[in-house]
Amino acid sequence: MISNINHVKKVLGDLKAKKKFGQNFLIDSNVVENIAKIACSESTKTIEIGPGLGALTEMLLKYSKSVDCYEIDRDMYEILNNTLKDERLSTYLEDFLDTDLDKYKGEPVRVCSNLPYYVTTPILFKLFESDLDIEKIAVMVQKEVADRFKAKVNSEDYGALSIEVQYLFEVKQEMFVSKTVFYPSPNVDSAVVSFTPIRERDREFEHGFFEFVKKCFAKRRKTLNNNLKDFMTNEEIERIFKETGIAETIRAQQLTLEDFIRIYEVINAR
Ligand code: SAM
Repeated sequence: MISNINHVKKVLGDLKAKKKFGQNFLIDSNVVENIAKIACSESTKTIEIGPGLGALTEMLLKYSKSVDCYEIDRDMYEILNNTLKDERLSTYLEDFLDTDLDKYKGEPVRVCSNLPYYVTTPILFKLFESDLDIEKIAVMVQKEVADRFKAKVNSEDYGALSIEVQYLFEVKQEMFVSKTVFYPSPNVDSAVVSFTPIRERDREFEHGFFEFVKKCFAKRRKTLNNNLKDFMTNEEIERIFKETGIAETIRAQQLTLEDFIRIYEVINAR
């Protein structure tokens, strides 16, 4: 299958790309193949979110052991099943946010997607916080979202997502992708970002830690102290500042990943 504008228009026929599902189809075969090369390994299954018309799916099949893909839109699902037939391909008509990932327990997987922009963050949080044995994730996201992953302390983009990502993964901006290689063309450019795990997973610790970090950023403009008051007693808060030596006037975006870990350890040491 060649992904170009004429092919996409022909396959769509009378259908229109659905904005509510974030449908922007890739129309450049080189870009598609490069994403697959970044994401896949021939010895590993790849999970794809939102295969759409299957341009990326076909390349994922070329470079993976097998591919499981999850599509929310029945029209896309039917086109895909009619045009791409391969015994190594499994297709599911499902909202990925509802997908039970337990079936992948014990099996290393890779994940690849040209992510629908309206659910980028919830899908990524779901992947990061899942029990999946992830070898690598490679996703296309809007450029400004890509910048948030690498955001440094004290910057406007720095938040729970950047902290979670930097705790778990080595993050790499693999390639810049112009808005002109999509149909319909979105308003902004994109980037392909990869995430490679950097530590042994400890789900129990992570679960509590990530929840804590999110609560610290609940009211971004307020001080950490103010945010903590929503779920901790004054006594507990005093202990945190005393034992970590962190100033009470600080705001969450001024704290490094190491600061957050230190604070969380004080809370857990009770
Ligand atoms: N992979 C195709 C490509 O690169 O040309 C299409 C990418 S398009 C940006 C996003 C795809 O995700 C669409 O096919 C859309 O229908 C699908 N999608 C949107 N929300 C979804 C969800 N919650 N779960 C699964 N698929 C979803």
